[in-house]
Amino acid sequence: MNAMNQAPSLPRTDLYINGEWVKASSGKTIPVFNPATENQIAELAAASVEDVNRAVEAAHACFESTAWRRMRPLDRGRLLEKLALVVEEHADELARLETYDNGKPYATSRYVDLAFTIDALRYFGGWASKTAGEYITLSPFFDDGGIYRAYTERKPVGVVGGITPWNFPLGQAIQKIAPAIAFGCTVVLKPSEETSLTTLRLAELIHEVGFPKGAVNIVTGYGHDAGAALVDHPLVRKIAFTGSTATGQRILAASAKTMKRVTLELGGKSPTIILADADLSRAIPGAANAIFGNSGQVCTAGSRLLIEEPVYEEVVAGVAEIARGLRLGPGHEEGTQLGPIVSSRQLERISGLVQSGRSEGARVVAGGNRPDRDGWFFEPTVLADVRPDMQVIREEIFGPVVCAIPFSARSEIKAIANDTPYGLGASIWTRNLDHAHLLAEEIDAGTVWFNTHNILDLAVPFGGTKMSGRGREFGTEAINAFTEPKAVVMRLAGDY
Ligand code: NAD
Repeated sequence: MNAMNQAPSLPRTDLYINGEWVKASSGKTIPVFNPATENQIAELAAASVEDVNRAVEAAHACFESTAWRRMRPLDRGRLLEKLALVVEEHADELARLETYDNGKPYATSRYVDLAFTIDALRYFGGWASKTAGEYITLSPFFDDGGIYRAYTERKPVGVVGGITPWNFPLGQAIQKIAPAIAFGCTVVLKPSEETSLTTLRLAELIHEVGFPKGAVNIVTGYGHDAGAALVDHPLVRKIAFTGSTATGQRILAASAKTMKRVTLELGGKSPTIILADADLSRAIPGAANAIFGNSGQVCTAGSRLLIEEPVYEEVVAGVAEIARGLRLGPGHEEGTQLGPIVSSRQLERISGLVQSGRSEGARVVAGGNRPDRDGWFFEPTVLADVRPDMQVIREEIFGPVVCAIPFSARSEIKAIANDTPYGLGASIWTRNLDHAHLLAEEIDAGTVWFNTHNILDLAVPFGGTKMSGRGREFGTEAINAFTEPKAVVMRLAGDY
């Protein structure tokens, strides 16, 4: 039998607190389903407020310990490097587990999720020994004969609460854990209740590598209790959140009570903008890939397709043809290009929004339905004749659905592209570099791509404007996100 068809072995599904596996105090569990079959495959421990409190106390005790505080930055980096090696050794196994739990094609799990995870561990491992402050000469407004100097240090913020979504589970977990550890923080991470299995397997590998007890704790559970408990806990000094805008707003409001630092990576409705002079042989597949990759469950998915009128019909027809040709199937099957949607709830949301588009007058050029098969599948869908007031164009769908909009003058692009509450990403497809640069300045988004879409790199700051969030992760911005500057001011006096 093909090994890919066999169910992968599962990790422990208890809570990982203070270097030990413990049951949830309430004994409550959360069912886990395989989206390709709709069958239950596991049960997760549902952490209660007390469990989260214990995990935070363990992370705090580790953070305060002399061993952690005095650990050489290079050695924190080594922990991450060792973990990178172990994750790399288990990459196939982890990728199969992700496909089983999340549904995405194995190739995506292995060559996107796992590749990113391993790179992120190495990238942040390298940062551990490279943070530095400044030395400043002061200009005192009085003259008391002293000479004043100051230096700044980057101090770790303390215990970090990481909360992650279900679209790139392992990569998101590492995006929180790796910079936290690199910069000297400790972590309590709550993965999405839909897709916790690879994060739990990661906890086993973290244990194997020998991270100090309490440095990384993993608590599975629901957002409204385990997630909220993490946000409310006064010893958690920072929340690093990726998820929906609605949850981000709740977290921001709740964190005011304890004045936590927060970074919020939220939703998007990113435009793919195709100018008439673009190389359509690249722009059309690029636009299709921007929305159908990972079944559209990507925060920066190019879900609004803005096309200059002379090439509008050609681009819509081209993207629709690609959509019709994509092979839907279980993620473990060879040749599958599009896996199922993560949950029945998300599938219903996508179906409902497409239905609303239809009833408001959008033209369905490709897809638009659930295929007749088991599993939470939805056809890759192209909607045309979409008006700016329709729900499909205003709301994030987070599925394989693109809305095409024509524009007749380049002067219209700014208004159409920015006509959204979100500001996460945008791509511009053109051969005219002048127009590309000028347009990039006009578009309100955290990232603008030229002639490509969804290229993320750990060295490039990532995050959104407007309702897409606040703060940035990756690159040098990560230092600000996980550390606080401390200024030490001194008076030097006397002769020497
Ligand atoms: P979600 O907001 O429903 O859940 C995200 C996480 O928050 C889960 O772990 C959940 O349990 C937790 N949560 C829910 N309510 C909470 C509360 N009251 N307090 C604390 N935690 C709570 O999002 P989702 O459906 O898992 O993910 C999809 C969303 O994530 C989309 O909107 C997508 O755009 C966004 N996303 C953004 C990025 C980015 O980098 N900007 C990346 C991936 C996904």
